[in-house]
Amino acid sequence: QESGLTAALTPFDTDVEGALRPRNLGEFIGQETVREQLDLVLTAATRRGVVPDHLLFSGPPGLGKTSLAMIVAAELGGSLRITSGPALERPGDLAAMLSNLIEGDVLFIDEIHRIARPAEEMLYLAMEDFRIDIMVGKGPGATSIPLEIAPFTLVGATTRSGALTGPLRDRFGFTAHMDFYTDQDLARIVTRAADILAIPVDPDAALEVAGRSRGTPRIANRLLRRVRDFAEVRADGRITVPVARAALEVYEVDQLGLDRLDRAVLRALLVQHEGGPVGLSTLAVAVGEEATTLEEVCEPFLVRAGLLARTPRGRVATAAAWDHMGMTRPVRGSG
Ligand code: ADP
Repeated sequence: QESGLTAALTPFDTDVEGALRPRNLGEFIGQETVREQLDLVLTAATRRGVVPDHLLFSGPPGLGKTSLAMIVAAELGGSLRITSGPALERPGDLAAMLSNLIEGDVLFIDEIHRIARPAEEMLYLAMEDFRIDIMVGKGPGATSIPLEIAPFTLVGATTRSGALTGPLRDRFGFTAHMDFYTDQDLARIVTRAADILAIPVDPDAALEVAGRSRGTPRIANRLLRRVRDFAEVRADGRITVPVARAALEVYEVDQLGLDRLDRAVLRALLVQHEGGPVGLSTLAVAVGEEATTLEEVCEPFLVRAGLLARTPRGRVATAAAWDHMGMTRPVRGSG
């Protein structure tokens, strides 16, 4: 649902992403606070010989939530079972997953804020007592049979922790708020990925790619691969600053890392609505995207970059947005 270079992954890209995933907390770059807190939770639980509390990772896509869940499973020596909120439409789907877990497994539920109500209610009991109730029969004769499940750790990931219900949020023992990465951390991630993929990249070129990655490791890795394509086809294979700049121009990633969709949003806001305020759904229609994509993918970065503000009356462009798009704010009449 995303556009251009932030588009959904192809199977090939997914394989490469797998190779680039950090395999333990030591390889996980940046997010120092989250790393330290998580390390304490895991180490303490391991010492006590119990499964760790359930963990909630919240933050925009591509910041490393799935990678962290894999790391948690690896550190516990369990397997990682992956599902997502939208996939758990019927409680039976969840019951099947839960009853197949063995002790120490990690159940990862991506987009957990989108889980359907009946499955969510089943999850309460499972998280609290490692038990589920299976309903047998219908109508007045229906009974529920309790079923024990193995002690496990639930890892929930969400782009909108505010959309979780109170009871669900309360059942997590630890919430990690993942924030956008600094350019320095992203440069380290780019350099590490380049090493793994055997791509020669100059340190300042790694920083150039990092600076246009919208604070997001997944985008950094993807830009690196596209810049490599350019370096191999149009240059001698080495990624230098001029090569990186020329490549990113071809891929329409601007200085701030905005891609076509980001710029389309800003343009709609500036041109069609004179900078706002305008409602999210109006903007979504103007650029032909889902409102949720705008809200969860574009906006967090535009807000962080100081280009867009959310106000009670709608989205508003900042002075920096007019500057960045090379436009002048029209003078409004005083009536
Ligand atoms: P999310 O689940 O939040 O959408 P992922 O865990 O799938 O994000 O991360 C996307 C990609 O970014 C991973 O394949 C990994 O290569 C890379 N990545 C994410 N976080 C880090 C990190 N802290 N250090 C190194 N690489 C990272």
